[in-house]
Order: sequence, then structure tokens, then C-alpha cells
Amino acid sequence: MTTWDSLYARRASRMRASEIRELLKLLDRPDVISFAGGIPDPALFPAEAFKKAYGEILGGADAERALQYGVSEGSLRLRTWIVEHMRKLGIECTPDNILITSGSQQGLDYIGKLFLSEGDTALVQWPTYLGAVQAFNAYELNFDRLDPRTNRSAAAYSAQAAEKGGAIKFAYLSPDFANPTGLSLNLEERRRILELSAELSCAVIEDSPYESLRYDGEPVPALLALDCVQNDGIENSRTLYCGSFSKSLSPGLRLGWICAASEVVSRLVLIKQASDLNTPVLNQEAMARVAEREFETHTAKSNAVYKKRRDAMLSALERHMPESVRWTRPEGGMFIWVELPAGVNASELLEQSVETAKVAFVPGGAFHPDGSGTNTLRLSFSCAGADEIEAGIARLGALIAETVTFGH
Ligand code: PMP
Repeated sequence: MTTWDSLYARRASRMRASEIRELLKLLDRPDVISFAGGIPDPALFPAEAFKKAYGEILGGADAERALQYGVSEGSLRLRTWIVEHMRKLGIECTPDNILITSGSQQGLDYIGKLFLSEGDTALVQWPTYLGAVQAFNAYELNFDRLDPRTNRSAAAYSAQAAEKGGAIKFAYLSPDFANPTGLSLNLEERRRILELSAELSCAVIEDSPYESLRYDGEPVPALLALDCVQNDGIENSRTLYCGSFSKSLSPGLRLGWICAASEVVSRLVLIKQASDLNTPVLNQEAMARVAEREFETHTAKSNAVYKKRRDAMLSALERHMPESVRWTRPEGGMFIWVELPAGVNASELLEQSVETAKVAFVPGGAFHPDGSGTNTLRLSFSCAGADEIEAGIARLGALIAETVTFGH
């Protein structure tokens, strides 16, 4: 029998099944109220608009082009829409600054491939988006903790990276309604990140798939927008912005983008070519039409639904959680992050919760590259109606109260 393990590259040993994705398979039970999956509500997808767009393309003169190979940079029509979208975020750019990717997840993988040599360091927040850790892990890097609220010096970060035998290549952040905390960085924190990365001469990866899901509060300028102001335009900036259509219009079409200096984009295009030649043209052409016609109205409509669900969950937490439990109050996105009293293990709580309370969530330990955060958990409000939220949080609150009181 072939001993596969001896044949695999060393990086394969760092690739593990995501605890969350394994968990989600088990939680797909009709009797369980799930706050686990961080996905858009499928009832909100603009299916009619996509049907019309695909029909137009396949029934007209565009069919031949849409079914052919396409350019690696991505469809010009879709990149042109994205340029306009980025302009609304305060970022002046051209289609040469945009690469279309198969979801922003592919963008994260390409960024890892472009920047990381074995032993290099990436700065990430704790907790952070697990999919980014998975994408970067293949490139045999080290993680160091980035905390925009503390003043750890650039020299201290550099010393740690040098000790691990590499350099700091980038700081990775999700500044708007982060997965898993739901929190955003304020202006001062964003400025500090840009200052620190300038001192470290490293890139900044701004991963912002939830940007358009704002329910209240004022938008804070994107890191890339601040960078462009400070450095006189995108060509001198150090920030790569990763956007996505997954949370706003459809994750199934797998469409995201990277917006950055054209020199970096042209390098990423070479990676795209070697990886999958191009993102499906038909999907890009359909997305361009739907985004042009419906992006604003559709996001306004779905945000109104998500806002109600967020409010319902915050209100239920207020009424049903014991005193010792803390949680975030996000202005947008899909997640609320809950901190249980120290000593309560959220993974053990989940087992009990699924069996007895019939409520599912994601234990927070998985989002910490160092294995800490065992007393935290992530709740998603995106796919549950107000009644389910009320019932689910009431049951979860009762279970947590029991666990805290009796110290299970
Ligand atoms: N970044 C973050 C922070 C996410 O939460 C997700 C999806 N869960 C992604 C990137 C990847 O999204 P997609 O590939 O669908 O664009």
C-alpha cells in the first residue's frame, strides 16, 4: 500500500479539516436552532435578477464570449462596477487596480502565495477569521498577535519575527464587522495600524466582505482609503483590499476581488493564471448586470432584515443571559461574540447545548491561532427569524445560567 504521508509536502501537515466546517455538518438537524453558520439568508438572494441576467447573456450576442475562457484579471464590465464601488468608499482606482477572484477566500490564498516564504510572520488579530489562518498556513508561516489597542513597538514585533527566522510580510485585519467578533476598528485604530505597518515596511491586508452590511452608526474610512490619502494615491499604498459579493448578493457564484497598487495586482494576475486561468466569465457577466441594477436596493432591503435580527438577538441576550456573560454590540455584519465567565468551556457547552437546549453556536477557541479563547463563542443572527432567536437565546441563557451556577 502506498504510504501517502511520506509523499506529501511538508506544508500538507499544516492543513487540517476546519473544526467549524466539521461541526456544521453535525449541526444540520431540523430540531436544533442554529446560530452557527455565518452565511447569508438564502431567502434573500436576488434569484429573479440573476435568472434575468443569465437569460440575457445566454440568449444574446454575449453568449459566445461568456462561455469562452476569459482574461485572468477578470471581466472588464465587473471590474468597472467595482472601480465605482471603491470610489464610493473613498478609493480612486482604475480596472488595472482590480483582480477578480473566486471569492475573497481565493484572494487570501494568492496573497499568502505572493508574500510568504517559509518562516515569515503575518500579524493577525486574536480572534481572527479562521479561513485566513487556513489559507496562510499552507505557506509555512508564523502568526504573531496584532492588537490595535495596545502600543507594542515595531521593534518588538520585528524582533519576534527575526527570532522565528523570517520577516513580517503583512498585517491581516478585518476592520468592518469582523468575523467572528462583529466589531469594527475605529479611525484611531486604523491610523495606528497604518503607522505600525509603515514602520515595519510591511503590507496591510484589509479583508472586508461585510462592509456593505451596516445597520447603524457612521461608516469609518477603509484602511486603503486612508492609505491613499497619506501616500498620494493607490499606486504608493501598502494596503491590499479584499472585497466580496458573497455576503451582499450571492456566495454561490464565488466572486470577490482584490484592489491594490497595479504592480501588486499584475503579480497576483500571474498567480491567477497559474492557478485557474480565470474566474468563470459567465458568473462575472451575470454579477456585473445584477450589481449595476440592484446592488444598492438589494443591500438596503437585506440590511433591514438583518438589522431586525441583530436587534432581536441583542434584546434576547439582555433578557436571558446571566450577569456574568458579556457580548459585543456590532453595528453590522452577521455576528455577536459572547464571552462566558473564565473556566466555562464553550466546546463542552456546545455538546450539552445541542443535546439538551437544542441550540447550536460556534465555540470561540477555533478562532484563536494559539488555542486560547476557550470561554468564548460566536453567534450568528443572519439566518434565524425573530421567534427562533427569542426561543434559542432563552434556552441557551438557561443552560449557561445552570452551567455557571453548578460549575459543570
Ligand atoms: N473573509 C472573511 C472575514 C469571511 O468571513 C469570509 C467568509 N466567511 C471570507 C473572507 C471568504 O468569503 P468569500 O470567499 O465567500 O468571498
